[in-house]
Amino acid sequence: MVSTYCELCFWGCGVRAHVRDGRVTKITGNPEHPLSRGMLCPRGAGATGQLYDPDRLRRPLVRRSQRGDDVFEEVSWDAALNEVGARLDDVARRHGREAVALFTHGSGGVWFKHFMKAWGSPNIGAPSYAQCRGPREAAFTITYGTPLGSPEPIDLANARAITLIGSHLGENMHNTQVQELAEAIGNGAGLVVVDPRFSVAAGKARYWLPIKPGTDIALLLAWIHVLVQEKLYDADYVAQYTEGFAELTAHVADKTPEWAFAITGVDPALIRASARFIGGARPASLIHPGRHTVWYGDDTQRERAMAILAALLGSWGRRGGYLTPAKFPLPGYPLPADLPHHGGAAPVADRPKGGGYPLATEVLASGLCDATKPGHALYDLKAWIVYGCNLVQAMPGRQELVEKMQHLDFLVAVDVLPAEIAGWADVVLPESTYLERDDDVSAPAYKRPFVAIRQAVVEPLHDSKPGWWIAKELANRVGLGAWFPWKDAKEYVRARLAQKGLSYEELAAKGVLLGPPVATCEEEGAPIGAATESGKIQLYAKELSALGFDPLPVYRPQDDGPPGSFRLLSGRAPLHTFGRTTNNRLLAEPYPENEVWLNADAARSLPGFEVTPLVNGERVVLVNQDGVRSTPVRVKLTQRIRGDCVFLVHGFGQTAKKQRRAFGRGASDAQLTSRYKVDPIMGGTGMNVNFVRVERAGEAA
Ligand code: SF4
Repeated sequence: MVSTYCELCFWGCGVRAHVRDGRVTKITGNPEHPLSRGMLCPRGAGATGQLYDPDRLRRPLVRRSQRGDDVFEEVSWDAALNEVGARLDDVARRHGREAVALFTHGSGGVWFKHFMKAWGSPNIGAPSYAQCRGPREAAFTITYGTPLGSPEPIDLANARAITLIGSHLGENMHNTQVQELAEAIGNGAGLVVVDPRFSVAAGKARYWLPIKPGTDIALLLAWIHVLVQEKLYDADYVAQYTEGFAELTAHVADKTPEWAFAITGVDPALIRASARFIGGARPASLIHPGRHTVWYGDDTQRERAMAILAALLGSWGRRGGYLTPAKFPLPGYPLPADLPHHGGAAPVADRPKGGGYPLATEVLASGLCDATKPGHALYDLKAWIVYGCNLVQAMPGRQELVEKMQHLDFLVAVDVLPAEIAGWADVVLPESTYLERDDDVSAPAYKRPFVAIRQAVVEPLHDSKPGWWIAKELANRVGLGAWFPWKDAKEYVRARLAQKGLSYEELAAKGVLLGPPVATCEEEGAPIGAATESGKIQLYAKELSALGFDPLPVYRPQDDGPPGSFRLLSGRAPLHTFGRTTNNRLLAEPYPENEVWLNADAARSLPGFEVTPLVNGERVVLVNQDGVRSTPVRVKLTQRIRGDCVFLVHGFGQTAKKQRRAFGRGASDAQLTSRYKVDPIMGGTGMNVNFVRVERAGEAA
């Protein structure tokens, strides 16, 4: 049995891999690890399906046809890395080192980030920011002076009220949060779920608010109105730790539940009752900050309203609310000198030429894509290194993405499976799965500081190589080998641990080492505070006002879409992590394809379906406002969704033919997301702004 940490998603649960006769037979949770606590989500338990996937990339590939044709020749590692090195050097010679960008997702990206810093480009981005949690990070930074990071430092287990706004925990399987949610419900906590869909979480809720999509800010303002009017907020906390309460009070004075009803469609009595419940449970009343937060382009303001609500409840810094996390104090690898180009001499190329997105707290992956279009940004990007992220499914505006990629001189993809992005690459490098490779340790800020090890459980299959090896060998090809002085990842980790007097062998045996317990909330002795300039929580944000943005969240109506169409919403299923798992036999057998949720009454009144109504499970095609057609997908006719929207689980409708199990299964919400609204504050790409009509599969285009 070997201890390591999981990468079927990016939560990082500690696992134990059971091995018999050189094969991994079973994955179980490491009971000592604070994120898994001995239990795994189904994806984590299905990791052997990835390891033994017959469709894995086996050998390095070099493109021998036009980009996008997905026609490659197998070559040796030496030949592939020589080609990558020569092409990157060529780009640097002609356009500068900063013309190379890295897109990354997952813990193995650490080696390629290090490569980029040594190389001298600041263009390192992850879709997990501008295409996912970015708005909440910006909003919490504006309000509390600090982003939340991952895992979010929330205390679900001790909350008495938990409010989920569009978060469908239980379908979205971040392991620790699902465990704590179950614990909280078992202890009598009540759930408030705001969702146009009756999600799994809604099924457990005391209050379900089936909101009209795009109107959440109105609901949040109405809740704040009730808390203020009925004095359900924590007056002492507000007086001591916040700024701007008077402005907030004036701002919400007319935002009554009746006002919100006309916008949200939620009964005013339900708005009042849920607000009283939320207020009554304070301070152990948790407003979950959400994770995939890019919806309508006003997302930082929605997250601001949630952050303000949390402050009124006095839950920031308190048990059952937002905790003060701590990191295991582990220094980096002791390099003999600072990286030569650390941070890069050039500015990041992720903003438009004239500037924009002033409060982005990380690099915008979408901005890096834009900078590949000549003349858009300060300078043009000419080469991409894409590590472990399928940009074709992650980015909105697929057609635009394809056009941008055509401007590249060079694209190299590093991945385990032949995802869609690999089809667009010039060179494809097959990485080993997490069960076959050593990596850097995991030591995120959390309630209990910890450091966990990733170590190879079995030898790499086929001709795949671990990321650390690929990055080091690539560095050798471009004259940067001195910045990769470690023999291997083991030696790298050993050197990090040695600085704290920690034993590699002990960590390898246990999988995780815990730091001493820390005070994480006021009840344990941790001071409440904000890392803002004034040291106070910013209910009214002068910083936003100075930049020309609303200092308090304002509801502005969203477009309702063409008549007869449905707003396209997307989310997660417990067995899958986007398209990363859809080819995994163990996970695809029980959940092989997504289905489109459509309100049964709305389906009955669809024009063209009067004579022969749709039946449950029938295949339909979704056609968006720009004429983009989905692959055929089964319809789920249900009362569990409003009649003005449809819902798809993300990650299906794959077009990569070499993933034989996933190819063509279900429909891709990403393909239908031809439009997006950019958040002017931080550059997130709001994607819930697309509308589809429903056609019977087989109908003429
Ligand atoms: Fe693995 Fe599931 Fe944990 Fe993600 S939540 S790291 S898939 S066990």
